[in-house]
Amino acid sequence: MSINPSIARVVRLFATRFGKSPGIIVAAPGRVNLIGEHTDYNDGFVLPMALERRTLLVGSKAEDKQVVLHSLTTGESAEFSLRDELRRGEPGWANYVLGVVAGFRRLGIPVPGFNVLIDSDVPLGGGLSSSAALEVATATFLESLTGHKLDPVQKALLCQKAEHEFAGVPCGIMDQFTSVMARKDHLLLLDCRSQETRFIPVSDPSLAVLIINTNVRHKLADGEYAKRHAECEEAAHQLKVKALRDATPKLLQTHADKLSPQIFRRARHVISENSRTVLAAELFSASQWENVGELMYQSHDSLRDDYEVSCRELDTVVDIAHNIGVEGGVFGCRMTGGGFGGCAVALIRESNTASISRRILDDYECATKILPMLFASRPGEGTAVLLS
Ligand code: ADP
Ligand code: MG
Repeated sequence: MSINPSIARVVRLFATRFGKSPGIIVAAPGRVNLIGEHTDYNDGFVLPMALERRTLLVGSKAEDKQVVLHSLTTGESAEFSLRDELRRGEPGWANYVLGVVAGFRRLGIPVPGFNVLIDSDVPLGGGLSSSAALEVATATFLESLTGHKLDPVQKALLCQKAEHEFAGVPCGIMDQFTSVMARKDHLLLLDCRSQETRFIPVSDPSLAVLIINTNVRHKLADGEYAKRHAECEEAAHQLKVKALRDATPKLLQTHADKLSPQIFRRARHVISENSRTVLAAELFSASQWENVGELMYQSHDSLRDDYEVSCRELDTVVDIAHNIGVEGGVFGCRMTGGGFGGCAVALIRESNTASISRRILDDYECATKILPMLFASRPGEGTAVLLS
């Protein structure tokens, strides 16, 4: 397998820019969630995998307390001094790194100055968690730099906190847990309440996951996210449970008259999605791809109709995938991520990857006049030190 982004190229560019060879090279992957959408903040389950796409950090210690960062992905540089108090600032992208440095310092681990080149083949801002890949790569880099290894859960939580406090994004735990802990050829069933993880083996090489970026991002995403969050809290309150994770379809039915039709539908999505996620993990273990695929379509329908977070472009991708069908090699497809644009994910037969990609590309462009971005991936591995 070719290693992307090319490590040799980044090492060469590091030497040109900083005048010496890098002492440390680390990587951390992006992720895609196969099922379990909008369940995380309801204390429920999610089923992500790491992508074979990742963020590389190539760097070395610097003599003074100065940090110099350069992203080859965006062509931007940033510089800050560790003598000053670490605060959220400009440029915005450096906050993901800064937040992780602050996390190490909070643990009492002294961080020396460093120079770093960043490169990534995880699309930025597409819902595949380039942000967590950057945070986790930074944490792995700092572990090597300082000689202090963190416990994996502590490391993921430190990165989550960096995203909360330095990027101002109130994310759940899925992205950072996956980027830290993922294993090649496995999915990660994550209980967002207990933070327990279970690895689900998916070693059948005839199976692939296709990611389809609609290349649209509708503006209402952030506001609607906050509304859904509040609606779920309201539903849990009415059902007298701690979180919707604790509710059953029967409980929802018996309280149906107390809830507004909208709150009822929001709760129905979360409750049904949670069961689908646990069931999908079992079906993945049993290699029952068609049954998993069926759950993915159900998940999409529920997100579109009950949770109302899909959009025309995502629905178009799912319809095209459904039309290709199992005969054409598509087992299932759904929107993934928060919604209102971003990516869809499909479970496909690996040998059909080219024909499926072509068909989705053509039909989606014809329907929307937008060129999508597609790539296939098998479940990849979590963050790793490549040189230290
Ligand atoms: P996602 O995590 O879905 O890709 P986010 O909006 O959460 O989207 O994070 C994307 C942001 O993370 C970018 O706008 C940028 O600020 C930062 N980022 C991630 N990867 C890189 C990179 N390789 N170089 C520079 N900035 C990056
Ligand atoms: Mg992100």
